[in-house]
Amino acid sequence: MKYQRPKGTFDILPEDSAKWQYVEKKARELFKKYRYQEMRTPIFESFEVFSRTSGETSDIVTKEMYDFYDKGDRHITLRPEGTAGVVRSFVENKLYGPEFQKPVKTYYMGPMFRYERPQAGRLREFHQIGVEAFGVDSPTLDVEVIAMAIDLLQNFGLKSLKLALNTLGDNESRTNYRQALIDYLEPYEDQLSADSKERLHKNPLRVLDSKDQADQKIVADAPSILDHLTPAAKEHFETVKSLLDALGIEYVVDPNMVRGLDYYNHTIFEIMSDSKAFGGKWTTVCAGGRYNGLVEQLGGPETPGIGFGLGVERLLLVLEAETDQLDLSDPLDVYIVSIGEKVNAEALKLVQALRHQGFSAERDYLARKPKGQFKTASRLNARYTLTLGETELEARQANLKNMATGEETSVALAAIYGDFATVLSKGE
Ligand code: ATP
Ligand code: MG
Repeated sequence: MKYQRPKGTFDILPEDSAKWQYVEKKARELFKKYRYQEMRTPIFESFEVFSRTSGETSDIVTKEMYDFYDKGDRHITLRPEGTAGVVRSFVENKLYGPEFQKPVKTYYMGPMFRYERPQAGRLREFHQIGVEAFGVDSPTLDVEVIAMAIDLLQNFGLKSLKLALNTLGDNESRTNYRQALIDYLEPYEDQLSADSKERLHKNPLRVLDSKDQADQKIVADAPSILDHLTPAAKEHFETVKSLLDALGIEYVVDPNMVRGLDYYNHTIFEIMSDSKAFGGKWTTVCAGGRYNGLVEQLGGPETPGIGFGLGVERLLLVLEAETDQLDLSDPLDVYIVSIGEKVNAEALKLVQALRHQGFSAERDYLARKPKGQFKTASRLNARYTLTLGETELEARQANLKNMATGEETSVALAAIYGDFATVLSKGE
């Protein structure tokens, strides 16, 4: 029997994890500057948390849910996205209360699950870093969230980026638009894909999001939501655009963009990259928008919200294609070369003492010859080696070698146990 990872999943191996840690660390540092705090919610939730919010005609609900009944017959889903779980928790824990400073700014990072057809940058288990901000309806927050997403990607050294922007307006705008869209699409009904036919009357906005090429041709000339906005929705969008202008952030308005989830309204956006990682094809790395109404949908008081999700695998594909941005070399401070069984206990004490002093330190465990141990020290990028043989042990000394310069000195063990940093600074 040969075991294999499930289709559409992958293992993050030791040699890869530095990249993941790098991305997560940089994101945390940036979020801190904007006063976002981490939230960790369960990886599985009640099925309804997603089915009620993503939209019953969305790809996520119709095709992609990893759902099952647990032994207590509860309908459970592995989370396909981050927002609904955060909102569920926001409501359950009453984070809307007056003691919490508005906007309540949160972020998360972790795995998401969608039953998709696996391909490059599209997996069944993938990872998102996302933010959600609650309690402020001002377009200023929309722009701050967008600016933060761009900051994040630029911090990773991503150069060629495109910000696509649209608005879905408020409920009234969408009701008006919905009818206009149905009127436009109905004559093409026979030519639409099966999915789009199904969605035409249930949720015509979904047709705009179709990946089917024939659908996309029809949709290209569809009426624009921008012509159906209420004055208030229009003003919100105009302010978003003028504040983006004020920050010097370039954008392209894409009036056909709707996003894959039903809970969005007002501002929606995608940040795309045409990196060689995607064969030069514009690909969405980060996407988000406003979701006023979602908190109420999950049982909370009227509370506006806005956020985005970043696909970590897609980000890493870009980073790997433009590797000049990535310096993940992680040298070892000290490697202990031990010669002979008699020095074993002392070598162990030494390596532990160095670790306790804050150094990264490693030793040999296989009683190998010194030559092999030095080879390992080089492979591990050790900055220093400390060699301990029987003669050294008797003299209570070790041989310190600077691996970069080749310079060697004899050092008292007592000095190393006292403070190795001082030993090193004297040597320089
Ligand atoms: P698409 O239209 O590509 O299916 P979506 O609308 O389903 O995207 P979102 O739900 O907005 O995507 O997810 C935000 C980001 O998460 C995407 O821009 C992408 O970077 C990433 N993402 C989404 N689904 C996957 C997946 N199956 N595998 C890897 N990354 C994904
Ligand atoms: Mg999708």
